[in-house]
Amino acid sequence: MEYLYGIILFVFGVVLGSFYNVVCYRLPLKKSLIKPGSHCPKCKKPLSFWELIPLFSYIFQRGKCKKCGAKISAIYPLVELSTGILFLISYLIFGLNLELIISLIFVSLVVIVFVTDIKEMIVLDEVIGISLVFLVIIRLIIGYNWLDLTLDLIIPFLLMFLIKIFGDHCFKKESMGGGDIKLMPVFGVLLGYKTAFIVIGFGAFLAFPIALLFLFIKKQRIIPFGPFLSLAALILYFTQIDFEKIVTWLVMIGG
Ligand SMILES: [Zn+2]
Repeated sequence: MEYLYGIILFVFGVVLGSFYNVVCYRLPLKKSLIKPGSHCPKCKKPLSFWELIPLFSYIFQRGKCKKCGAKISAIYPLVELSTGILFLISYLIFGLNLELIISLIFVSLVVIVFVTDIKEMIVLDEVIGISLVFLVIIRLIIGYNWLDLTLDLIIPFLLMFLIKIFGDHCFKKESMGGGDIKLMPVFGVLLGYKTAFIVIGFGAFLAFPIALLFLFIKKQRIIPFGPFLSLAALILYFTQIDFEKIVTWLVMIGG
């Protein structure tokens, strides 16, 4: 039975991933998510039933539009596969309960942030807003205290805001995008505000070597921070490492 649930969650993830592709492609352009139906961006011909099947259509069509032969971006199947795998991992870690739904919402947000922040350097307000509302509601149903949740929402946001003001002052230019600040309440509700602090440091640690690479190889001075923050939060959430305990131990050993 466990295998069956695992397979169902993987397939569910792949199908939703196909929808997230539409979100990532259309929302930044302020286009409708429903109309028109999916079509080839080059020849504009609507996709047939078989061409709409996530993942497999890309493999069978060898990454090309059947009608005009235009290359289909590999991002589409990658998003579908990643969402499927992350849904499966969520199930393997949390099993069938409310925490699984929280995990599915969060990994969906991570996938969308990765695509839009890397492609367009934006984090979609709509996606953050909807995710936050559902995360807070489920945390309340699970039995979290509303006062704790309010602190988890506000404190990481304020801290990141202060870091940005400090960074802008030091570098004399925009040091961080608004999207990075807006992501912080999500990490707070997901992990608690103390672990959300660690997300910032861990995210910077992950971003540093990549930023250096881009600076030296592509002479690019700006890289999106959102994907690194999201990846850091995802690792902390999936591994469930209790950093508060580690810090307490270190303080105890040090003292
Ligand atoms: Zn085409």
